[in-house]
Amino acid sequence: MVDLAWKLSHWDRRVHAFPTIGDIVSEAVCQHSALTPRLTEPTDDDRRCQACLLLHGDELADRYGDADRYAL
Ligand SMILES: [Zn+2]
Repeated sequence: MVDLAWKLSHWDRRVHAFPTIGDIVSEAVCQHSALTPRLTEPTDDDRRCQACLLLHGDELADRYGDADRYAL
């Protein structure tokens, strides 16, 4: 399980999930890359990247299995 950092990218105004934050460039799980200094903390108003949400969801399902289904 990788700890993902959700950061707002100013390239597309979407919040992406980043497994690692690079010194110069960071790549999200959906393969969107952005300059690290242009990434900021998201607010509730910012929209999350659909691809990152899907990929992140798969990871959660792998981790929690059926327990996740009962939580809904
Ligand atoms: Zn993304």
